[in-house]
Parts: sequence; structure tokens; C-alpha cells
Amino acid sequence: MTEKFAIRILALDDERLMLKLLSHMLAILGFAPAVTFDNGRAALEWIDSPDNYPDLILLDLNMPEMDGVEFVRHLVERHYGGSLILISGESERMLQTVTKLVRAHKIQVLGHLRKPITLEGLNSLLEKWTPPSQSELLAAKKIYSADEVRAAIVNGELINYYQPKVEVATGRVVGVETLVCWSHPDDGIVFPSQFIGVAEAHGLIDDLTRVVLTGALAQARVWQDAGLTLRIAVNVSMGNLGSLNFADFVAGEIATAGIPPQQVVLEVTESQLMEDPRAPLEVLTRLRMKRIRLSIDDFGTGHSSLAQLRDIPFNELKIDQSFVHGAWDNGTVRAMFDASLGLAKQLDMEVVAEGVEDRDDWDFLRKTECDIAQGYFIAKPMRAASLPDWINSWQMRLQKELAAAPQAMRIR
Ligand code: C2E
Ligand code: MG
Ligand code: MG
Repeated sequence: MTEKFAIRILALDDERLMLKLLSHMLAILGFAPAVTFDNGRAALEWIDSPDNYPDLILLDLNMPEMDGVEFVRHLVERHYGGSLILISGESERMLQTVTKLVRAHKIQVLGHLRKPITLEGLNSLLEKWTPPSQSELLAAKKIYSADEVRAAIVNGELINYYQPKVEVATGRVVGVETLVCWSHPDDGIVFPSQFIGVAEAHGLIDDLTRVVLTGALAQARVWQDAGLTLRIAVNVSMGNLGSLNFADFVAGEIATAGIPPQQVVLEVTESQLMEDPRAPLEVLTRLRMKRIRLSIDDFGTGHSSLAQLRDIPFNELKIDQSFVHGAWDNGTVRAMFDASLGLAKQLDMEVVAEGVEDRDDWDFLRKTECDIAQGYFIAKPMRAASLPDWINSWQMRLQKELAAAPQAMRIR
């Protein structure tokens, strides 16, 4: 009983009555009162505060503003290490598909409940709950305060890592994506998912992006001078695109570094809901006019991606890793991959597959029309100084091991 009572439960459903019903059922079953929210934004705000961490989330899938699938994506970004129970009025098949998708993100799903839910149904899923293992606990998030993140930016504790992007057909290294990490004096290397959200929420993302971009362009210049022509990609948040002078800032930095603008890629994820889409649209259009390449990141993860494709002339589409890794073996994942690839090809965009984790993923890609691959199978993000050696070893690998693969057969 006491063990049950210690489980911290969060319930998220847009129907208040449903929240009341869930609270009531939890009380009957001997659980502590759950924290309840009727929208995803409020729930995320609560989770982002340092002392709040749910062990279990009861999640409604159908919500008007941020739906359950999008909410899961935000949990993945925060390295959520707890469990989930999915709730929906949708068909059993729909629930099963979403359950598979969530599990592909390595989040533990205890099961799903179809509305109207019953006390027995809820109880049987709650009984499956087990405390996370020690390693899961270690991997789980520590969320930093805005002051800590601000100090990290000011004190120069942010370090750019670079992850190679290679051409699928030839293996040629075409560019790198810049991923910022925080070299924390006590905690060691802290990953971006643990502080980008905080920076976005507290008006620090402009300063952060400027530091990352300036460093990446200076590095690109060093590589260029050494005879290495690489496209350099930098991630930008919606928050960056709200200020109209962003395009001029980027163009100015590119000119200072002396890099052709065509070599610079900005990867945009619509991770925050747009309050006023006009400013981002204008900024992105101006960036395009300055010949800077635009990439739509994490494609397929549930934001209003289609509207963006219609309005903004993106050059590149990055298929999210959850639709790449294992696509060869999983019909649902494969369907999302094929649909994204087909759409991008029709719009004449270059396609990058993220999350190429193993040989199976790579062999699968070689049989498709996907242009570029990125992922742990090729290389993990690395410090700039490691790149030349990595390129040498990649070329050796290509010659020896990868060339032995059956000749790529283009299908589609
Ligand atoms: P993203 O732009 O989609 O970056 C790809 C993420 O996938 C990186 O995580 C990368 O390390 C990881 N990854 C690469 N290959 C594989 C693979 O084979 N398997 C798996 N499972 N993961 C792989 P990371 O470095 O933790 O970055 C997370 C996110 O943080 C990025 O996602 C990006 O949205 C954001 N981010 C990183 N740097 C910046 C930045 O400077 N500014 C902004 N605004 N966001 C950033
Ligand atoms: Mg990216
Ligand atoms: Mg991505």
C-alpha cells in the first residue's frame, strides 16, 4: 500500500470530468492524488520545474491544442524515464499503433485504455508498474534553472559537437550538423535536450543560437582553409525566428567568416507553437533570399509540418529518427518513412534520414531514394578536432566493409 502511495502520477486529459473520474479511481485503488492538467503546455511547464518529476503519466491522446503524440515528443526531448498509460476514445487499432510509436521512442508503455475506462482496466495496468532501474534513473533528466543556463552561455561553457552527414549513394561526407553540449563544471557533459527547452522558455535562445552559430561558422572556415568543404548545419528554434533582425545577423556572421551562404544550413524544428506565424515566415523567406539553405527538422513528429512546407521554400527535409531506425522491419515506421520521402521528392527537396543506428538501417536506406544519412552507425557527434581522423577511418570502412554489401538496388 505504501509503495503504491509513493508513485507520483500525472494525469493529462482535456476533459475535466475525465480528470475527476481518474482521480476518484486512483483514490479507490489506494494511490496518492495525481497532479492533473487539461492541456499539454501546462503539464510540460510543471514537469520543467526542477522538483517535479512524475513516475507515471496517464495520457489522453485526443486533445485540441497539443495532442498526445506531440506531448510524447516533448517527453522524449526531456529524456523522460517514467512510464505511460495511453487513454483514448479511438479504435483499438489506433491505440495499438500509437503504443508502438511511443515504444519506438523507448518510453515504457504499461498499456492503453479505451474510453469509457473501467476501474478493473485501470487497475490491471497500474499493477504492471515497476520502479525504474538504476541506469534508467541515471539517464533521466536533471533540469537546470534559467540562471544556470544563462551563466553557461556567458561563461563559454557551451561546446559545439559535430555529427557527419554522408551521401547514401557514395558514402561521401557532405556536411556536419552542429549539436551544442554543455561542459558543466560538476555534471560533466550535459546534452542539449536538458537545457534547450529552458533556454527557449526563458528568452535565452537568441544568445545561445548566436554563440553556437558564430562558433560553427568559425570552425567551417578552419575546415575550408584546410581544404575540407563541408556544409555546416545549425539548429534554430522558432524563438530565433521571431526577431526580424535574425536574417541580417546570420548573413553578417556568414560574411565575417567568409563562407559561401550555400554551405550554411539552418535546421528548423517547430518545437514551440507559433503565436504569430508572420515573423518566422518573413525571416525564413529572407534567409532563403540570401541563399542560405533551410532544412525542416524532425519531420513527421506531429507539428504543423505540412503548412510549413507549403509556405516556406525549404531545401532539405530531415525524416525524424523514429521513422528511420527499424523502418526495414516495422510496417508502421516504414509507412511513415515512405510517405515523408515521397513528399519531399515531389517537392524537389533533399532528404536526410536521421537515426541511422545500425547496418540494417544503412542497407535499407541504400535501397531507397534517400539522399543523405546521419546517425550513430556512421558517427556519433564529435569534437571538431576529431573530424579529420574520423573521415579517414570512414573512408577505410567504406572501402572494406561497406563496399562488400550487395550493389544498391534503387526501388520505389
Ligand atoms: P536534432 O536536431 O534532431 O539532432 C539530432 C539528435 O539525434 C542529436 O541529439 C543526435 O545526437 C541524435 N542522434 C544522432 N544520431 C543518432 C542515432 O543514430 N540514434 C539516436 N537515437 N540518436 C541520434 P542531441 O545532440 O541530444 O540533440 C537533441 C536536440 O537538441 C536536437 O535534435 C536539436 O533539436 C536540439 N539542439 C541541439 N543543438 C542545438 C542548438 O544549438 N540550438 C537549438 N535550438 N537546438 C539544438
Ligand atoms: Mg537538427
Ligand atoms: Mg532531428
